Order: sequence, then C-alpha cells, then structure tokens
Amino acid sequence: MTPAQPTVRPPLSPRDDVALMDGYHSPQVDVAVRLNTNESPHPPPAAWREALAAELADVAWHRYPDRAALGLRRAIGELHAVGPEQVLAANGSNEVLQTLLLAYGGAGRTAATFEPTYALHSHIARITGTDVAVGERTDDLALDLEEVGRVLATAEPAITFLCSPNNPTGGVETEETVRSVVDMAPGLVVVDEAYGQFAPWSALAVVDDGTPLAVTRTYSKTWSMAGARLGYLVGPAWLVADLEKVVLPYHLDVVKQAAGRLALEYRDEMEARVAEVIEERGRVVAVLGGLDVDVWPSGANFVLFRPRTRRGETVWQGLLDRSVLVRNCASWPRLDDCLRVTIGTRAEDDAFLAALAEVLG
Ligand code: PMP
Repeated sequence: MTPAQPTVRPPLSPRDDVALMDGYHSPQVDVAVRLNTNESPHPPPAAWREALAAELADVAWHRYPDRAALGLRRAIGELHAVGPEQVLAANGSNEVLQTLLLAYGGAGRTAATFEPTYALHSHIARITGTDVAVGERTDDLALDLEEVGRVLATAEPAITFLCSPNNPTGGVETEETVRSVVDMAPGLVVVDEAYGQFAPWSALAVVDDGTPLAVTRTYSKTWSMAGARLGYLVGPAWLVADLEKVVLPYHLDVVKQAAGRLALEYRDEMEARVAEVIEERGRVVAVLGGLDVDVWPSGANFVLFRPRTRRGETVWQGLLDRSVLVRNCASWPRLDDCLRVTIGTRAEDDAFLAALAEVLG
C-alpha cells in the first residue's frame, strides 16, 4: 500500500528539474503469478543460505564493514579474470549507474541513450543533472549504427549507454557493434549487462585499461538475489579509482559483501538456472508464436510482445484480473501496446499463456 501523502506542504521545493520529474513506476501488486520485474523464478541454493547464516553468526556488528569490499571484489574479479582494482561493487547495478553518472556526468555534460531501452539510464542521468541525448532505433527496435554515429557526433556525450540484452526489447548487440560504438564515442561507453548471462557473448571480452568501456552486471537476475541489492561494474582500473571517489563510505554493508562473495561459489547452480530459463524461453516464444501477438526475439529472461488486435492496456488488465502480472510497456517511448513478460517456472508460464489465450479470445 502507498503511504498517505501529506495534505499540507511547507513552502519548500526540490530543484526545478526534480520538481518536473516522474518517479519510478512499476506496480508491486500481490498476485499469484508475478512476471513483471525479470527476477529469477528460483531462490538461491539452500547451501548458500546456510553458508551465509554461518558467516553472519561471527560478524562484528559494532564495526563498520570493509570499506573497500576487497573480498567481494576479489571474488568477482576472479570470476571474470580481472583484478579487484577493475571491479566496483554497489547497491544494485542501479547504484553502479548512478555512480558512473555522478563521476562522469553532471551539469554541462550529456549522456546518450537509444530508445527504447532501460528507463533508468536516462532517469538517473537527469537526477544527476546530466543532459540526455536520445537516439532512435530501427523499426524492429535494433541499434542503428548510423544513428549512433549521428547522435555521438552532435551531442558529444560523456557517457554512451548500451544495454545488451536490451531491456525491454531483449535484443543482443554483437561484439562488432560494441567495438564500433567504442570507436565512435567521444567519452565512456557503458554496456549494461544486467541480463548478460542469458546472451551468447559478453562485452566483458572488450574490457581493458586502454579502452573507455565499462560493463555493468547484477546479482538480481541470474544469481537469484534481487532481495540483496547488489551489482557491479568491470572496467579499467583508472575508471574504478575515479568512481571510488564518489561512492559513500561503507556503502556496502557486511551482509551484502558476504552474500555476494559466497554466491559465486555456487556458479554451477546459477548456470543450471540460466540454462533452464533459456529452454523455457524457447517454449514460451513458440507458444506465443501461435497467438495473435507480435513477438521480438530475446536473448534475455523476458520477452517483449504486442497484441495485434487488442490494446496493450486491456490485455495487461485482463491478465491482472487472472492474477498474472506482466510489465505494461505503454509508458516506454515507442512501445505503445507492448507488454513484457518475465520467463518464470513452467507452471507460472503455463498460467500466463493460458490467461493470455483467454484474454485474446
Ligand atoms: N539494468 C537493467 C537493464 C535492468 O533491467 C535492471 C533491473 N530491472 C537493472 C539494471 C537494475 O538492476 P539492479 O537490481 O542490479 O539494480
């Protein structure tokens, strides 16, 4: 439930640009089948819970946590064959994005996005006072390198955001595309790989100290730890050193540091969950193919689709009436009537597909 808003407000205003902003809106509704926020359908392994509980039994609660989060960063670095100096961890990859914008964006600087893409890239940019240059995608929602070149040449962004697989379209950028954007960009290129493990390749392969490229990842999806709020970035050591200047001291609590470090010991289990979701995605896409909807190819744990003869809003409400919550993408630029469904368990997906068939008549 949303807390009641105060009816009397003292004569105080936020910054003019903040006063004009909309907050983040994605309904949190109590339903039987929740397929709206791209979480993992399975919890992390029981052995991880036990290891975490054992470690927490010994925590020195009266002391601040390791400010550099070195154990966590070392473990993430080992996972990606880089040193801890190339890793920045934060409270969800959203905080990683905010940190990037605080350090490299801000007043008088611009960030470029190619819409439709993850809404928080432009939203956090604006919160940090960064101007946003918006580029278009092709009619099939793919990145258009000519358009990218035009936007980068005109806006000269300090940060260019790519998202691969792209939320909400599901499209995966190729290595050639990422390298071309890095070559064209006058500033930093950030590839948001929140769904990276579902894709056939990763821009992590392009990261090195001589390249102005950072790749962001999250524990919220494939690691089944959305509740922990943990994300990270892999990039050049000089970039991480810059970002460390703007994060708040001790921003990563002791529980999160332990949870993230221990999770990486269960990589096989994570990969098994990813494989299951990819297989299930194939099945859902095949069934959607037989319904009256257009479907975009996805390299992620969600699928974007558009009912051909019904309003998206009506279909979204019809699903909700059947206790199935998907994401209504109507508020996204260029995605009128589109809906995005997260791949869940087989039972959840069956419930969604049956409800959708019923709503579409
Ligand atoms: N990037 C993308 C593309 C996402 O879809 C999300 C989550 N919806 C995030 C970043 C943020 O993830 P986190 O939970 O790590 O803040």
